Amino acid sequence: MQSLKTPIQEIRDPLLDEKGIKFLVKRDDLNHPVVSGNKFRKLKYNLEQAKLEGRDTLLTFGGAFSNHIYAVAGAGASFGFKTIGVIRGEAHETLNPTLAFAQSQGMYLHYMDRESYRRKSEPEILEQLESQFGKCYILPEGGTNGLAIKGCVEIISEVDQDFDVITCPVGTGGTVSGLIAGLNGTKRVIGFSALKGDFLKDEVYTLLEEVGTENLRNWSIQTDYHFGGYAKVKPDLISFIQEFERAHNIPLEPIYTGKMFYGLFDMIRNDFFEKGTVIMALHTGGLQGNAGFDFRA
Ligand SMILES: *Cc1c(COP(=O)(O)O)cnc(C)c1O
Repeated sequence: MQSLKTPIQEIRDPLLDEKGIKFLVKRDDLNHPVVSGNKFRKLKYNLEQAKLEGRDTLLTFGGAFSNHIYAVAGAGASFGFKTIGVIRGEAHETLNPTLAFAQSQGMYLHYMDRESYRRKSEPEILEQLESQFGKCYILPEGGTNGLAIKGCVEIISEVDQDFDVITCPVGTGGTVSGLIAGLNGTKRVIGFSALKGDFLKDEVYTLLEEVGTENLRNWSIQTDYHFGGYAKVKPDLISFIQEFERAHNIPLEPIYTGKMFYGLFDMIRNDFFEKGTVIMALHTGGLQGNAGFDFRA
C-alpha cells in the first residue's frame, strides 16, 4: 500500500512577515483519498503485519466519531480486509456520518457498554470478542502501537525542505512519537494536545521507550490550546478556522488541526519563536469529521 508523497505548501500572512517566520504546511490531509492523514500512516505497517500473520479481519475500537474507525473501515475496503468496529456506548437509531461511512465500507459495528469498553484491553473482554468473531488482527483505540509509530517516522524521511521546528496535533501521542523518533533529537518537535490535562508527555515517553528511541531530547507537548478538552470548541476557534481557510485555501477541522494552527499563530504573535524560524506544521487530515460536526452553520 503505497502512499503519495504529500506536498509541502508555504503560507503567507502579514503576521508571519512582521515576525520573520517562514511557515510551511506538510499536507498529509492529501495522502489518500479515503483514509487520509495520520491514520493512514499509522495503518500502513499494521496492514502489512496483518497480511503476514494471515489475518483477514481487522478489529478495532473507538467512539462514535472516531477518525480511526473511519480510517480502518476505509482501509479494510481498499486493501481487502473484513473489519469490525467495537463502538463505545449504545447504538443510535440513525448512524452519524462516521459510522454510516464505516458501515458503507463493510465494517461490522459491534456496540459495547461503557463499563466493558473501559476494560477492552483486558484478556476477558478480548477472549469474548475472539469467541464471537474468531481470530482477528487487533488494532488499539486510536491506532497507536509500535508499527503505527514506524509509519509516522516516514513523514520525516519524506520531508525534503529545511525547517527548525515541526509540529503536529496530539491525541494518543503516536504521531508525535513518530516525528520525535524520526528526528532523533536533531530538530525540535512540538505536539499540540487536543485533550485537556498534562498526561500526554508521559504517554509519549512510554511510547518512545517501547520503540527503542534513544534520543529523547528536543520535544515538548503544548497543553494551552485544548479549548476545554477533546472535541470542545469555542467561537474564537471557529472564526479562526474560517479565516484561515479563506486566507490560505487549506481546510481544517476543529478537533485537532484547527487547535494546532490556532496555537501556532498565537505563539507567533507572542514571540515564542525567534525571528528567522522555519516552522513545518503537519496537517494530519481528519477532515471527514467535519461532516458530523456542523460547526460552520
Ligand atoms: C487521530 C488524529 C490525531 C491524533 O493522532 P495521535 O497519533 O493519536 O496522537 C491528530 N490529528 C488528526 C486529524 C487525527 O485524526
